[in-house]
Amino acid sequence: MAFNERGMNASQVTPKGAVEFLIRFYRQGVDPNNNRYNLWVLCQGVKLFCAKLKMQLYTMNLRKMNSRPIGVSSKSALKLFGNSTRSGWGFLMQGLRGIFFSFSVRTGIARLNSFFNRDKLIILCFHSISQKDEHRFWPGVFISKEKVTQLLDYLQSSHFNVISLQDAERYLNGEAQFKYPVVITFDDGWRSSVTDLLPMFLAHSFPVTIYVTTYYCDHEIPVVNVLVQYWLWLKPTGGFDVAFDGTTHRFSGDRSSIVKTIELFLKGLVDEQKNEFLLALADSLGVSDEAIKSKRFHNATYEELAKAMLSPLVDIQLHTHTHQLPTDNKSIKKEIQTNRDRMLETLSPSNPLVHFCYPSGIWSPEHLPELESIGIKTATTLDEGINAKTEHPLKLKRNLVMDNRTLDHFVVTISGVLDALRRLTGKASTR
Ligand SMILES: [Zn+2]
Repeated sequence: MAFNERGMNASQVTPKGAVEFLIRFYRQGVDPNNNRYNLWVLCQGVKLFCAKLKMQLYTMNLRKMNSRPIGVSSKSALKLFGNSTRSGWGFLMQGLRGIFFSFSVRTGIARLNSFFNRDKLIILCFHSISQKDEHRFWPGVFISKEKVTQLLDYLQSSHFNVISLQDAERYLNGEAQFKYPVVITFDDGWRSSVTDLLPMFLAHSFPVTIYVTTYYCDHEIPVVNVLVQYWLWLKPTGGFDVAFDGTTHRFSGDRSSIVKTIELFLKGLVDEQKNEFLLALADSLGVSDEAIKSKRFHNATYEELAKAMLSPLVDIQLHTHTHQLPTDNKSIKKEIQTNRDRMLETLSPSNPLVHFCYPSGIWSPEHLPELESIGIKTATTLDEGINAKTEHPLKLKRNLVMDNRTLDHFVVTISGVLDALRRLTGKASTR
C-alpha cells in the first residue's frame, strides 16, 4: 500500500498536513496483528514529512540567496550581507546559536564575561535605517526602527558607557579612563542615517561618528548599485530592455552582472542623465520610482550633514571619496585626501579628520604604513570582536549591527563571549 493511494503526495502537503495525515493514516491503517506493517507506515510518514520540510528549507534558502546583494569578496565584508547562503543545516545551527545566546544572557554568563572585559573597547557599526522594507532586502545595512529602539533602550539601561571616538582614541593612548566603553559609528553617510537614525541616538545623548563617503554627497543621485539591487530583489529577472535616449538597451545575466553592466553604462553620463536612466529602468522593471523620489537610497547632502553637525555629539570622519581603498600608495592617498578635502571645504568640521573606516571593512596590512604617513590616528575594520588597549589603532575590530540578529546575540557579542569562543576554538584574528 502506498501513501499516494490516499490521494497525497510530497508536493501537495504542508509539514503540518503531513503530520495530520500520518496520524490519521496510522490510526485508520494500523494493524494490531502486524507491527512490521505499522512500523513501515510510520517510516513512510516520517519520510514524507522530511521530504516536505527539506523542500521548504530549500525554498527559504533560495529566497535568502535572492536577497543577497553583490559586490564584495573579502571574508570580513561578507558579514555585511548576513548568512545569506544558509542551508537547512544552517537553519538548525541558527536555532542552536539562538539557544546559546539566550542561555548566556539568562544565566549571567554574558554579564560576568563583560565584567572581565570591562577595560576593552567595543565599537559598533550601523549604516542606515529602513524606511519601508530595506531591512528585509539588506539586513546588514538597513536596520528597522523597532530593532534600533530595542538596542538603544538596552544600551541606555545597561552598564555600558557610550563614548565618542575622540575619547576612545584618548583611552587607547592611556590619556583617559573608562569602564565598559562603547563607540557608535555610522558608515557611508546615508541620508536616512542622518535624518532618521541619528536623532534616535541623540535623544539618548549618545555621541556618534559618521564615516562619510563624499562622492554621493557631490552627486545628487541614488547609490546606483544598491538601488538597482533593491529593484532586482523586488522583481527578480534574468533580462530586460530599457528604452533610453532614443535607443533600446538590453541588460541580461545574473543580478551581479546586470548591476555591473548598468554601473559601467552610467559611467559616461552626467547626473541628470543617470536619474533619467534610472526612471526608465524602474518603468521597464515595473517597480515604483518611489525609491528614487523618497531618497531612501541617497547619501545625505552637505547641507544635511552640516545641520546634523550642529549637535556637539555628532562627528564626521573619513571613509574614502568613492568607497574603495586601492592598495597602491598613490591611490590610497588620493582617495583619502579627496575625501578629506571635500569635507573640509564644505563642512568645516571642528574635530580633525584623522579617523578612518575601511570601505566594506576590507583592509590589508599593506594599508597601515600609508595610513600612518597621512596622519590617520585610528582605522576601523569589520573584523568582529572587542579591542584590548594593546590593539593596533589602525585595525580596530568593530561589530556590525544587523537587523536579523536578536538582542541576545547583540548582548553576547558586546560582552566578549564570542571573543572568548574564538580564542578557545583558535579562530581569533591573527592578522
Ligand atoms: Zn561603507
